[in-house]
Amino acid sequence: MSKRQYGNDLGFSTRAIHVGNDVDDETGSIRRPITMANSYQLPYDPTELNWSSAGGMLYTRNGGCNQHYLQQKLASLEGGEDCVVLASGVAALSGLFFSLLKSGDHVIFSSVTYIAVYRLLNELFNNKFNVATTIVDTSDINAVRAAIRPETKLIHIETPGNPTLTVSDIRAIAEIAHSNNVLLSVDNTLASPFNQRPLELGADFCIESLTKYINGHGDAMGGAIIGATKLLEPVRLQAQVNLGGTISPFNAWLIMRGVVTLPFRMKQHNESAMRIAEFLENQHWVRFVAYPGLQHHRQHGIAVAQMSPGFGGVLSFGLNADHDAHNRFIANLKIVTSAVSLGHDESLIVFIGENDERQYLYPKEFHNGFFRFSVGLEDTDDIIGDLQQAINSI
Ligand SMILES: *Cc1c(COP(=O)(O)O)cnc(C)c1O
Repeated sequence: MSKRQYGNDLGFSTRAIHVGNDVDDETGSIRRPITMANSYQLPYDPTELNWSSAGGMLYTRNGGCNQHYLQQKLASLEGGEDCVVLASGVAALSGLFFSLLKSGDHVIFSSVTYIAVYRLLNELFNNKFNVATTIVDTSDINAVRAAIRPETKLIHIETPGNPTLTVSDIRAIAEIAHSNNVLLSVDNTLASPFNQRPLELGADFCIESLTKYINGHGDAMGGAIIGATKLLEPVRLQAQVNLGGTISPFNAWLIMRGVVTLPFRMKQHNESAMRIAEFLENQHWVRFVAYPGLQHHRQHGIAVAQMSPGFGGVLSFGLNADHDAHNRFIANLKIVTSAVSLGHDESLIVFIGENDERQYLYPKEFHNGFFRFSVGLEDTDDIIGDLQQAINSI
């Protein structure tokens, strides 16, 4: 649809700005408009049309122009051939799982993943659809290899993992997957394509919650699956047309607008999170800090090998204090907001308590309660000042 072509030889920022945008044919405006329409005009004889076809301009659940423009941009930024955008990150994850898996299949997934992955695979698919699941610490390559079975269809990893920042070696797991005829999907939400491009490291599918860094402004939800056209065609048909997790044209447009500044925002997120992780590491009131950019992070070497130029804006840490002190610390913050989500312009913190049902899957230091901290774009000194004054006042 784009008349101007932007090759992948162009830089990341140039593509973030230009791909998917073009001059509007009707008005000559240099921004493509939001097309809030559910339906598109049919041809003279529509009886030959396939009502389930995906991509064409028929009905917005089959494919609309704003989602199409966003797909072009995201495919380019992830270094992929094709992209399907959906209503949320979870719509992308469930759409992928529903279109790939059938009864009798086996799936391996990371012990640290977004909660909905755990619920979908380990509760819904496992209990209702007879899909076998194995939860594996995928930072351990030998454990991944040992978990493969003849019926294994998919390995799903998240790296860095939410909320422990555990890093898994994408290249090594892709090799294990492919030598066993297994597909690999990677949830890239915490890194964003600015810092890590799983498809270039051998993954078959890259998943993004667009709600987070890609939109970046905390005002729209979306999700994407990026990969080869041949693998994505059945996913688009099932996830978008038949399961119906379609993104609204308005949200696709908002995300298209947000992603333009992704490289500039990520540079700042990377820099501030690194400085704040180093600051926290040196405070006697901090029990531990997890950030892939720190030398002592368990998988720092793998992070350096597969993430560049930075390690993202999310870190986790715990206080040398009891449960209630963690709540009082948050109550005293004046700039950092207590709320879920991550990758917004503003800093967000969430206290994950000792009663979290998945703690047994996390490394030991996470068992006593901890914060997941999404470092925002405020001045770094102001964020550090806020953390310092909050600890001083408890
Ligand atoms: C938030 C998140 C998701 C889910 O995305 P939604 O847009 O909230 O549905 C998936 N994976 C990771 C790593 C996330 O942080």
